[in-house]
Amino acid sequence: MFELPSEPVIITCAITGNKTTRQMNPNLPLTPKEQGIAAAEAVEAGASVIHLHVREDDGSESHRLERFEESIYEIKSRVPEAIIEVSTRGAVEDDIDYRGNCLDLRPEMCSLNIGTLNIGDEVFLNHPLDVRKLAARIYEMGVEPELDMFDVGHVESAFTLLKQGVLRAPLRFLFVLGIPGGVSADLRNLMHMISLLPPGTHWTALGIGRFQLTVAVHALMLGGNVRVGLEDTAYYRKGEVAKSNAQLVERIVYLSRELGREVATPDQARKMLGLKPRVPAANQLVSIA
Ligand code: ZN
Repeated sequence: MFELPSEPVIITCAITGNKTTRQMNPNLPLTPKEQGIAAAEAVEAGASVIHLHVREDDGSESHRLERFEESIYEIKSRVPEAIIEVSTRGAVEDDIDYRGNCLDLRPEMCSLNIGTLNIGDEVFLNHPLDVRKLAARIYEMGVEPELDMFDVGHVESAFTLLKQGVLRAPLRFLFVLGIPGGVSADLRNLMHMISLLPPGTHWTALGIGRFQLTVAVHALMLGGNVRVGLEDTAYYRKGEVAKSNAQLVERIVYLSRELGREVATPDQARKMLGLKPRVPAANQLVSIA
């Protein structure tokens, strides 16, 4: 018989991303201060993890270390309990060392992409040698990666990389559904990918665009964790842009509780994710000076 899951859900909020624009949603946080405010609202609403990309003043995607440092400072000064997950995702022309700049700040978590795919008309390139190099740097800096899974083959590759020692246990998976060129936001795809994981493996799911809510509800029902945020969709529902990241988090908190799952606090989330317990805020930021 199907048992409804009862463990708390970890909510990740992807507050900015690399593609969403102010034209798509005027409430998108772009500057470090705006990101600090958006992250604080999202954490107060129930998010534990803030997935972070940074932008330059003109809104363009950036991996500049100083920019990450400013944004992390703005977030941590408001919500020191938040778990920050920096993005190491980059454009096809970005050097892998540049993409990994943010690791020098020793955030608790980062994203790691281990597969290449076509996204719409673009190539999302993650050369195997770059993946190995970036993974080594991640572990060297004491950062815990979450693996972005855009397709079924990526899940299987993760276990190969684990066997080879490129990745280390415990693996944490983020299933990205509904991106053009990746696996579609079909419940059967999600269930198949979950079926490839050993019992007890940590996973989170997100749906891109109009699939954000349905994928989140599936994840809640299947015992997984949920990511929402303006990185993944500019909208709250069809024809209505989201007022804020917090608004998207609030809806998941409500649904989760209605379905009998409490929402994990950041410190509970650390335990569930296998992270070290939180240290006082002042020690969390390693100065790059
Ligand atoms: Zn991202």
